[in-house]
Amino acid sequence: MIVEPKVRGFICTTAHPVGCRENVRRQIEYVRKKARTGGPKRVLVVGSSTGYGLASRIELAFSSGAATLGVMFERPASGKRTASAGWYNTAAFEEFAHADGLYAKTINGDAFSREVKEQAAAVIAEDMGQVDMVVYSLAAPRRTLADGTKVSSVLKTTGEDYTNKNIDLAARKITEVTVTPATEQEIADTVKVMGGEDWKDWISLLSEKGLLAPDAVTLAYSYLGPELTHPMYMDGSIGRAKEHLFQTSREITQEFPGVAAYISVNKALVTQSSAAIPIVPLYISILYRVMKEKGTHEGCIEQMHRLFAEKLPALQTDERGMLRLDDWEMEPDVQEAVLRAWNEITDENLGELADVDGYWEDFYQMFGFRMDGVDYAADVEVNVPVESI
Ligand code: NAD
Repeated sequence: MIVEPKVRGFICTTAHPVGCRENVRRQIEYVRKKARTGGPKRVLVVGSSTGYGLASRIELAFSSGAATLGVMFERPASGKRTASAGWYNTAAFEEFAHADGLYAKTINGDAFSREVKEQAAAVIAEDMGQVDMVVYSLAAPRRTLADGTKVSSVLKTTGEDYTNKNIDLAARKITEVTVTPATEQEIADTVKVMGGEDWKDWISLLSEKGLLAPDAVTLAYSYLGPELTHPMYMDGSIGRAKEHLFQTSREITQEFPGVAAYISVNKALVTQSSAAIPIVPLYISILYRVMKEKGTHEGCIEQMHRLFAEKLPALQTDERGMLRLDDWEMEPDVQEAVLRAWNEITDENLGELADVDGYWEDFYQMFGFRMDGVDYAADVEVNVPVESI
């Protein structure tokens, strides 16, 4: 089949198997060129198929030689429908890992459910004995609770309406958006989905079953961002969930002897999740331009390499104990330049002040399109298996 991108709003409904494989291959190549790290050897990654979770898995496997168990929620191909990008990424990851003699298995199912947790625990007990690290990198729009109730997360403010600039990426125009306040129920639901409850459930279950190695480390990812995005990120409904995630890191460290839990605050990047947040895509487009000009721009793999090779081993944390991979994003000169551009940006100077092409490049590449060296006119097999599934 010849696979073409079908973009609907902030999602692409197709994915290219060869392009996704190339994307994973490049990330592996990046890691292989760096000095190997003596990191953890047995790792569980929850949310392992795209974005920061995939990059964590690649870094830990190919830099520290870790055996990895991944948990993801992805769609295999069916008929003329391609698989999701995360499916193809995982197929490629396992192919490369197995070729290198690295253990890699993946569970495709709902990480929030007890069944998937039990399944993962059984695989760990059987194949790995214990895990030294648990990376929790879920980004989900909704969660089904144990009693079957479905709750959704929302991207809203928690105070008043917030109006600011936005970008219509397709039309390449500056627009305006008003983000409305979440109700108390919506905030509580967002915390249920994106807060720390499920992370702690994972750690509790693994701990009860004796599957966490002594001195195990667990990490979850967060974002803080500059003031410009605070009303709808840090101070918004998602920010409440992230604060809950942070409090959970403290609870885990206190309640599970021998386990150290950390939050890594990562850089704003184009991923399937961040593309859905109002205001943030314009911020990211401007940030990309500023950071590329300064030579400090990073993608997921560069960020995750810096996390596991430098920040975590040195335990370089801020005053709240968080690892700050957003350090280069938050440098004052970067933020001043972003704010200046933000205030000045119009339809006319958009191409100059924001890296819209860079945004689209990342966006398409997430789904395996627009990768150099891939023949998009070729007929490709879309029904690609993930070896361990
Ligand atoms: P992503 O959408 O690329 O990845 C989400 C992962 O979660 C995928 O592997 C997906 O399969 C998995 N997943 C979703 N629902 C699931 C479910 N029910 N069961 C099992 N797996 C499920 O997202 P991302 O941007 O890499 O985000 C990962 C984390 O990093 C989030 O906590 C996010 O807030 C944080 N973060 C993101 C950014 C950013 O700019 N993208 C910045 C800082 C922090």
